Amino acid sequence: MKLASFSVKDPRLTQRNPPHQVPLVAASSFVFDSIEQGINIFDGVEAGHIYGRFGNPTVDAAADKIAQLEGFGGDFETYGLFCASGMAAISTVLLGLCETGDTILTQEDLYGGTSSLIDTLAPRGISRVTADLRDSERLEDKLAENEGFCIVYVETPSNPTLRCTDLDYLADLTHHYGALLIVDNTFATPVVQQPLLSGADIVIHSTTKYLNGHGTGVAGAIVCRDKDLLEQKFRPIYQLYGGSGNPWDAWLVLNGLKTLPLRMERHSRNAAAVTHYLLEHSRVKSVNYPGIPGHPDCSAIDKQMKLHGGMLSFELEGGIDQAKAFMNRLKFCTLTPTLGDVDSLVLHPATMSHRSIPREIRLRNGITDGLIRLSVGIEDVGDIIADLEQAIG
Ligand SMILES: *Cc1c(COP(=O)(O)O)cnc(C)c1O
Repeated sequence: MKLASFSVKDPRLTQRNPPHQVPLVAASSFVFDSIEQGINIFDGVEAGHIYGRFGNPTVDAAADKIAQLEGFGGDFETYGLFCASGMAAISTVLLGLCETGDTILTQEDLYGGTSSLIDTLAPRGISRVTADLRDSERLEDKLAENEGFCIVYVETPSNPTLRCTDLDYLADLTHHYGALLIVDNTFATPVVQQPLLSGADIVIHSTTKYLNGHGTGVAGAIVCRDKDLLEQKFRPIYQLYGGSGNPWDAWLVLNGLKTLPLRMERHSRNAAAVTHYLLEHSRVKSVNYPGIPGHPDCSAIDKQMKLHGGMLSFELEGGIDQAKAFMNRLKFCTLTPTLGDVDSLVLHPATMSHRSIPREIRLRNGITDGLIRLSVGIEDVGDIIADLEQAIG
């Protein structure tokens, strides 16, 4: 008796009325109905799947959906790859684009993992130059000074200080110097901001965060406008370095994406209310949130962000000691090192997400020892504020 229960001719595989939801295809390989068909699919003459690491219907559906969301409303096509993690997406892009002698221009206050990843490229002759990407004069000087820039890599809003960079301007400048602009859009999501519509070339995501939205899986995605770039530079790395995503995580993300616009609206509304509460509190020293009126980056924010998102950070009077006491007193919000879930999450950047960044660089970028990051959830905002109130004391 054959252990595999489906034959290619099995009516359950070729049914005429498909399932309403994208099925979770848990299979490591795909069957050819003849050797000729197998050869055609390998040659790319006929469409079809081969082996799970190269593609899978559920995984491809998630990649396409994220690509469509990032390009929605634009007059160009978009193409996506669904990856094993946000870091797999970032490493695929960096390894695909950068060669020995190349330089990456980026900001100092990057996601810690991305910053450490760029460190690992140094022995391969790929260097990094940092600048405040919001400071146009210094930026132009840096670009003019260095010949070998292959990419400009930006996170906006930045983590955890929510600084925002003007993407239209950065894209024009990057292209003027013959480089590509890569945007990590994890914090904003395509509901809030679509970097490709501002001229960026590549968007990357940690779908672990808002796109999944429920804290149930680690995955990532790459989206770009240039199909040749994706096929020639990214797909080989994706397939050969083992960075492709798995169908279960893709299925979870597809499920999460159905409520993404609803969630982002509620995250944004709740975060605005929490910001308002914190700004009024006498024991709160400072608050970072893109929706604060008169934000220093408001021209970029107003131009490119449709909502202000669910992330904020703040500092209590009394610095690190008060911050620790506050975090230990929380009952409703959860102390955990992720973001973008439906429930409210708190993290201490200096000892968690940004622990690998030297202290002086952290301080230069506003990441003080007492800074607390809050990923505001979609619960009743009264419950969130009541917890903050009792924990601030
Ligand atoms: C979490 C995160 C990443 C890394 O993603 P993983 O899914 O954890 O690999 C990259 N960039 C940002 C902004 C993140 O928040």
